[in-house]
Amino acid sequence: MDAQRTLRRQISCVGIGLHSGNKVHLSLKPAHADFGIRFRRTDLGGHDVPATVQHLAGIQLATGLACNDVSVETVEHLLAALTSFGIDNLLVELSSPEVPIMDGSAAPFIYLIQEAGVKRLAAPRKYLKIVRPIAISRGDKRIALYPSDHFKVTYSISYDHPLLRHQSRTLRITEESFAEQVAPARTFTFLKDVEMLRQNGLALGGSLDNAIVLGETGVLNNALRYEDEFVRHKILDAVGDLALVGYPVIGHLVAHRAGHALHTEFAAKILEESHAWRLVESPFEPVTAPMGLPVKGIAHRLAN
Ligand SMILES: [Zn+2]
Repeated sequence: MDAQRTLRRQISCVGIGLHSGNKVHLSLKPAHADFGIRFRRTDLGGHDVPATVQHLAGIQLATGLACNDVSVETVEHLLAALTSFGIDNLLVELSSPEVPIMDGSAAPFIYLIQEAGVKRLAAPRKYLKIVRPIAISRGDKRIALYPSDHFKVTYSISYDHPLLRHQSRTLRITEESFAEQVAPARTFTFLKDVEMLRQNGLALGGSLDNAIVLGETGVLNNALRYEDEFVRHKILDAVGDLALVGYPVIGHLVAHRAGHALHTEFAAKILEESHAWRLVESPFEPVTAPMGLPVKGIAHRLAN
C-alpha cells in the first residue's frame, strides 16, 4: 500500500499573473488525508475550488477552475509538479485569480515542494488504473490512454514553423524524470500571436522571462533549455491537466497535437468511462479487463 502525501510544512512565494501582470502571493499548506488539492482565494474568501474536472472553467490559453463565484486560472504547471511528486492533499492559497507564471515552467514549483518536504499520511492512496483503452480525437488532434503498469506519456507535436516541424518524446513519469526532464521546459508562444493577445488584454505579464517566444525562423530568447523543450512542455501541460481526474493515473497517455481543451475534455471523459478503469491501492495490482481479457492481451493487440 502507498500512503497519501501532503507537504511537511507550509511554503510561500510571490510572482506575477501571466495575463493580468499583477503580483500574486502563493502559499502551499499541508492538508489531511482525502482533502484533495483545493484552491482558496485569500482576496475573496468564500468557497474553495477543488482541482477536479467537475470544476473546469476557462480552457482557452490555460486551464482554469471555478466553484460558485470563485475562479482560479493557469493551474496546470503547479498541478503537474504536485501530481508528479505524489502530493494528494494540499491547500493552495492565492491572493488573486492567477497562479503565478514564475519562469513559465514547473521548475520553481518543484523547488518549493522540495524545500517544504513531503509527508506521508496514515491513509492509503488510490490509483486510477486503466484496463481498457480510452481515446478521443478532434480532426488531427488525438489523445488516448492505454493499459500500463506505469504512468507514461508519449507526446508528439507538429507546427508550420522551422523549429517545430515535428517533435516527439516518450517518458515514464516519476519524481526524478519529471524534475529533470520535464519541469524546466517553458511554455512557448508565437510572436505573431503576442500582439493579438495584448490587444485582448491578455498576456500582460508575459515576457521573455516567462515564455519562449518564436519568431519566424527562430526563438527570441537567448537559448533553449532542451533542443526539444517544446514537446517536453506539452508533456508538462498534459500531466497537469490529467491531474484533474482527481487520482494518480496508471496508464500510457498518448497525445498528438493536443492542447488544454482536448486534455481537459479527455480528463472528464476518463471519469465517465468507468468501465475502462479500476481504483486500486497499488499500481501493480493485477486487474483484469472486462470480458476476461487479460490487460496485456489488449495492449498487445493495440501495439500491433
Ligand atoms: Zn503550459
